[in-house]
Amino acid sequence: MTTESLTCWVCGKSQFKQVKKSDVGTSLNSQNFAITNFSYGITGELHKCGHCGFIQCTDLNDVLGFYVDLEDPEYENTRKERKLQETALLKYIGKYKPSGAILDIGAGSGILVESAMEKGYRATGIEPSRWLRQTALKRNLPVLEGTFPHPETPGPYDIITLVDVIEHVPHPLHLLREIHQALDDQGIFVITTPDVRSLAARILRYKWWHFRVAHIGYFNRKNLRLLLEKAGFEVVSMTRPSWYFTLRYLGVRILSFLPLFLRFPLPRFFETIIIPVNLRDSIQVVCRKKDQLC
Ligand SMILES: [Zn+2]
Repeated sequence: MTTESLTCWVCGKSQFKQVKKSDVGTSLNSQNFAITNFSYGITGELHKCGHCGFIQCTDLNDVLGFYVDLEDPEYENTRKERKLQETALLKYIGKYKPSGAILDIGAGSGILVESAMEKGYRATGIEPSRWLRQTALKRNLPVLEGTFPHPETPGPYDIITLVDVIEHVPHPLHLLREIHQALDDQGIFVITTPDVRSLAARILRYKWWHFRVAHIGYFNRKNLRLLLEKAGFEVVSMTRPSWYFTLRYLGVRILSFLPLFLRFPLPRFFETIIIPVNLRDSIQVVCRKKDQLC
């Protein structure tokens, strides 16, 4: 694809420069898109917008089919720490909306839905992966199969969450405008995504853990705000969320950056210790509909 024919999904300009060649082979499959895939630095062809700094993948725009067939048992193995993650997010959301109807888009196996129900919210999720959705249903969690917009979720919702999803989506402005429509006029929209201008991203460059084939859009705080404003939102708060990991998970990831001869076996009890980590390389935004603040 020539850079002249590209339009930025955020600002709409056509001032792209190639910043990374594709290292994806021809044998791409669903497992390359697993949430727990750790092939850091393997991406499609990336171009950076000279106007807003958004980095866009230009050769992997039609990836939905990979998500439909995705199976990720390893993701379920990390349910405990992911639940802590979602509980922390809901505690934050509770400052703005302590009750009401919540829709989680890209719900996975329904961890946020489960946490929200435990806190008394009326929760629904939507998930494209059949396997993840079935995993949610086995736990009696109301997760619909498919993508948003969905005929069964017209809204209005008091809260809509989009947690680590926008970086997987082509033409994210379309999705955000649909979310705006389904949100109650007094509702809040909560979005999280990696920050490609964070210190970790700048130090590690293409070894940063968020450079992976499943991510086709890379935001920073400025262009994420721009996209949200174009979709009709006003930013209420922008923070850096913590993530929860077992010591074992962290150890394995850290060791993977070392040469083989320096790697050592990790103690078994590392699996049982969960700690919050804030690498300050993600963005968490709470927004309201713009006209509601005027
Ligand atoms: Zn742009």
